Amino acid sequence: MRIENLRARLRELGAKPCHEDRLMRAWLQRLPLDGGPRPQEHFLPLALRQALPVLTAELDGLARLRSQHPGEDGSSRLLVELADGQTVESVLLPRDGLCVSTQVGCAVGCVFCMTGKDGLLRQLASAEIVAQVALARSLRRVHKVVFMGMGEPAHNLDNVVEAIETLGTDGAIPHKNLVFSTVGDERVFERLPQMRVKPALALSLHTTRAGLRAQLLPRAQRIQPEALVELGEAYARATGYPIQYQWTLIEGVNDSADELEGIVRLLAGKYAVMNMIPFNTVEGLDFRRPSWEKAADAARWLHQRGVLTKLRRSAGQDVDAGCGQLRAREIKIGFV
Ligand code: SF4
Repeated sequence: MRIENLRARLRELGAKPCHEDRLMRAWLQRLPLDGGPRPQEHFLPLALRQALPVLTAELDGLARLRSQHPGEDGSSRLLVELADGQTVESVLLPRDGLCVSTQVGCAVGCVFCMTGKDGLLRQLASAEIVAQVALARSLRRVHKVVFMGMGEPAHNLDNVVEAIETLGTDGAIPHKNLVFSTVGDERVFERLPQMRVKPALALSLHTTRAGLRAQLLPRAQRIQPEALVELGEAYARATGYPIQYQWTLIEGVNDSADELEGIVRLLAGKYAVMNMIPFNTVEGLDFRRPSWEKAADAARWLHQRGVLTKLRRSAGQDVDAGCGQLRAREIKIGFV
């Protein structure tokens, strides 16, 4: 269900535009759908009030909690069931963040990612994307939403754009706290600057070498790393938010001195932050995780050369973290 269908459903139940807005805000911010017990506290007309139990069941059915897996770092992975029984993952992040999924599966096929292994199963509709936020807010405060879960947001652009516009208005998330994450796609750089709610942008770079990038991200749009950084820089300057470059650090693949020098050539002086995340070892994927000390050395080396670099752990590593692992495990043991 797209958000426009959801709004049409509210109108069908008797909502006027002011009721529609109020209900959307109440749903996404976990406020009461209507006022208190006394008639003068009611905002919604009677017919609509009587339909609230049905409506609540429909909204809850968009994204249900199948299971929750807290990690030691304060994050918590959620396996979320959609109305058709498909599952996706959301992650409650430390400091009131939430990572949401935008597709079931993913067509990009990054060789170090479990989600990419089975290709794209289906798109998430915009209402299913924002429903993950409503669900997470029933568990905890959410003040930041990153679109870094399962799926490539650029491959589901209309739904993701609609979800961002809704979260930045009815969802009351500050615009710079909405982070669109992509491997890079020209359509993103055409569309995002036109949006009313302009999100921050994260670009998954992973290597400075175009040939290696084509191997690691086999079905990402072929944009030269230099061109990608130029597009990112223009967006960062236009919005005033730095670009967040993502780099999954894999031993013997993209952690060489050449790569680090390539990062300095591309990013020194740019309005950007480099997030390095050591690869999370996954059963069935033949890559190695570099030691934390080696990763810290690389981050320090970059930092000293003018690239603002943060070394991060992927959230919830101790609970099969890394996008798609929780879902993959549930499939393996026959829950899905
Ligand atoms: Fe898709 Fe992201 Fe996994 Fe790559 S890392 S396959 S873009 S979900």
